[in-house]
Amino acid sequence: MDSKKYDDTISKRIVAMNNRVNSIKDNGLYFYNQSISELQGGAKVIVDGKPMGMFASYSYLGLVGHPKINKAAQDAVYKYGTGTHGVRTLAGSLTIHRELEDTIAKFKGTEAAVTYTSGYVTNLTAVSTLVGRGDYVISDKLNHASIVDGCLMSGAKFLRFNHNDMEALERRLEQIPANASKIVVADAVFSMDGDIIPFPDIVRLCKKYNAWLMIDEAHSVGVLGKTGIGIEEHFGLEGTIDIKMGTLSKTIPSVGGYIAGKKDLIEYLRHASRAYIFSAALAPAQAAAAKAAFEVIMDEPWRVEKLRENTTLFISQLKDAGFDTLQTETAIVPVLCGDDDTAFMMTRDCQCRGVFVLPVVSPAVPPGLSRLRATVTASHEFDDIYDAIDILREVGRLNGLIQ
Ligand code: PMP
Repeated sequence: MDSKKYDDTISKRIVAMNNRVNSIKDNGLYFYNQSISELQGGAKVIVDGKPMGMFASYSYLGLVGHPKINKAAQDAVYKYGTGTHGVRTLAGSLTIHRELEDTIAKFKGTEAAVTYTSGYVTNLTAVSTLVGRGDYVISDKLNHASIVDGCLMSGAKFLRFNHNDMEALERRLEQIPANASKIVVADAVFSMDGDIIPFPDIVRLCKKYNAWLMIDEAHSVGVLGKTGIGIEEHFGLEGTIDIKMGTLSKTIPSVGGYIAGKKDLIEYLRHASRAYIFSAALAPAQAAAAKAAFEVIMDEPWRVEKLRENTTLFISQLKDAGFDTLQTETAIVPVLCGDDDTAFMMTRDCQCRGVFVLPVVSPAVPPGLSRLRATVTASHEFDDIYDAIDILREVGRLNGLIQ
């Protein structure tokens, strides 16, 4: 038999990507997928045997390794084992799942909540279950890929507006027939830029045009609001989001995602969303860890305050050094580098000196806006931040980014 010839667009795509990766590796500038062997309290890590200051963590409140959360996960393994042997609808629902969902609803101030096995899947399934052909979904241009994929999968008319531009959003809303069903969806805190959606305006427009409002709180839980509840608390506009999406993989040191909202919405998703019906339930240890983490946030409010102080210090020090940190106001701090090569070289020079940061390059961000995506957490002490700033200043000068 003749052997197959792999010279179609699939193989061309594979070759093109692998060539790009290999060329970065050949230049000694590849820093993705490095193995961390120890998380030393969150502010320090061991990478390839080398201790480094951790400035790439999403554990914003420093909850990874918290004793109460670890214990909850261990107890769940002893009680339930490691898996759920199936989907929630059939035999996969455990008491811990409902306990977690009740805790999320309490934390987010909603009637109910439903969980899924990842944040990515949560956005995909929620958007594509709620809107379909003939409906409209209107999305900020910088929304997370999981929202974009959910919009595409839904079959609804997919309209986008320029990032954080509320006039552009209003023009989109005006375009839509008044009686059409529509969802406006946006990140609360944007995952690459760290800036915040103009929430009061988006709430006002959704009311004016009778649109459902869905907000992805992946980077706002634990980060925004006096007690870390999120963007509604930050702006004092409680009860204004119809569909509150969140992940269990960032501030909450587990994995999974959720939608919180009115009882009838959640009951609908529990019976209509394909990721709930056709995919296995969260593992018990993950669910128990997530539940305990929400409780720790409520019990230890000092963490939110500490994160806020660290964020203010980190951003102001970077700006004083002359770096462009775009419009960030949160724990996600872009350090603009421009082209991909500069971002890679900045990463290399930081990591050589013991600061663990990573580059984000196109297509994840627009060409010319490649950056280090640095993060700060409640685990950092002020001295950790000052030490990292000294190194960033040194490598920024070395690479011609600052004077
Ligand atoms: N939404 C946003 C805004 C995110 O940044 C992410 C993760 N990068 C997700 C959703 C997906 O969450 P998860 O990693 O839990 O799948």
